[in-house]
Amino acid sequence: MQERETPTMTGYDFLVIGAGISGASAAFSLAKRGKTLLLEAETLPGYHSTGRSAALYTPNFGSPVVRKLNMAGHGFFATPPEGFSERPLLTPRQSLTLARPGEEAKLAAVLACSTAEHPILPISAEEAYRLAPILRREVIGAAALEPGVTDMDVAAIHQGFLRGFRLRGGELRCAAGVSALHREAAGWRVEAGGEIFHAGVVVNAAGAWGDAIAQLAGIAPIGLVAKRRTIIGIETTMQVSDMPLIEFAGEEGYLKPDTGRILASPGDETPVAPQDIQPEEWDIAVTVDWLQRHTVLDIRRVANSWAGLRTFVADHAPVVGFDPEHPGFFWLVGQGGYGIMHSPTLGRATTSLIETGELPADLLALGLTRDDLSPARLRAIASA
Ligand SMILES: Cc1cc2nc3c(=O)[nH]c(=O)nc-3n(C[C@H](O)[C@H](O)[C@H](O)COP(=O)(O)OP(=O)(O)OC[C@H]3O[C@@H](n4cnc5c(N)ncnc54)[C@H](O)[C@@H]3O)c2cc1C
Repeated sequence: MQERETPTMTGYDFLVIGAGISGASAAFSLAKRGKTLLLEAETLPGYHSTGRSAALYTPNFGSPVVRKLNMAGHGFFATPPEGFSERPLLTPRQSLTLARPGEEAKLAAVLACSTAEHPILPISAEEAYRLAPILRREVIGAAALEPGVTDMDVAAIHQGFLRGFRLRGGELRCAAGVSALHREAAGWRVEAGGEIFHAGVVVNAAGAWGDAIAQLAGIAPIGLVAKRRTIIGIETTMQVSDMPLIEFAGEEGYLKPDTGRILASPGDETPVAPQDIQPEEWDIAVTVDWLQRHTVLDIRRVANSWAGLRTFVADHAPVVGFDPEHPGFFWLVGQGGYGIMHSPTLGRATTSLIETGELPADLLALGLTRDDLSPARLRAIASA
């Protein structure tokens, strides 16, 4: 194995494992502060969850901690740093939440999530049908519209982080899966892709593989659970491009337009081992059936389908912070179904926690604390 020539005693200040959106955003932020290496097991970054999302910015989605993080990212996406992307990162979509006739009361919980910055407005069933004529009229009892939901250009965001990282002097290695991690006097010795690297701080941004990385370092897992989610694409000749995201109150399934197609998900959450996950025939069939019952789409065939992993810990909030028992080992995992929305915020939070031990001031001002994100909270949950 080749021992990599190191420019300083520790080689790199920061070594980030995993070049999905989480690792890319952290590396982008850390490269401003020190020499940073980003290692990716696959030949291309973004192959796993990052390349398989629904690409939605949904500010009123998730637990209270998650919602604060959702909102904290909006400024970055709306006004990214100079040169970050040639394309807008957000484009208007809106979200329509429906209740079937007789189930109108279910909308109350949705409307209760409305905030001054991201309102959710009750609208008539007729107005909902006008916005989404693809629906069967008889499935709409009542409706709520959230104008602040947008599409996100995930590829532009991911590439923006990676390009900015390289411009700041960062090094990206693909086909460099980390195979061993050893604590040494001044940091970590990391084996990957047939080379050995040394770094002061290791950032574990390996997504569904986060616990496997910890175990390589002899660190206890934090209980990450990867859950499969399926999306199918249906071609249609109907004019759907301006239609909102559509979901039903209290249910996980949704549909949205995407470049001349309707994308739909049954909202499945099947726990699986970390892997290159593929869709199951059953979940595809369930989604087609759901579309047939709720829309007037003439479904002749499924044009495309994919599945991705949404990886959670027990309380469904991300895990961002140093391991309490292993200095220099930083967790950046558990982004679940929110990792694209959270990426600029958690990247900044990573740098701030590593440098100062505290979250950035704007996150503190939102009422977030480092304990909300710390891995230590999970050991407390486990022992309760
Ligand atoms: C169907 C679906 C819909 C979603 N919709 C949305 C949405 O609308 N909005 C939103 O914000 N989020 C959404 N998400 C969630 C979002 O996609 C994820 O939270 C996010 O992509 C997680 O990014 P990540 O970088 O942590 O993980 P990943 O993208 O999985 O990256 C982890 C990387 O680590 C690498 N790795 C693993 N082991 C090693 C190793 N030993 N050495 C080196 N590298 C390693 C992997 O190869 C991988 O590239 C959705 C997810 C799915 C599946």
